[in-house]
Amino acid sequence: MASKRRIRRNSCTGKRRYESASQARAAISGLFRRKGFQGYLQAYPCRFCAGYHLGHLPKEKSCGRTHRYRH
Ligand SMILES: [Zn+2]
Repeated sequence: MASKRRIRRNSCTGKRRYESASQARAAISGLFRRKGFQGYLQAYPCRFCAGYHLGHLPKEKSCGRTHRYRH
């Protein structure tokens, strides 16, 4: 079946692709300027399309801090 190949492709289709890390970072700052803070984003190189995408940072580090805020 050829469907497996499709799943792999879909992991980066639909995401915006940038040619370089600096372009991706510029896109992040542009996004913050237009829409406000969107959470901590980072640019990461994509192994599938050899471009860069934007992703949220893993939340592990902030986990301990959120315990302070009890609702
Ligand atoms: Zn990709």
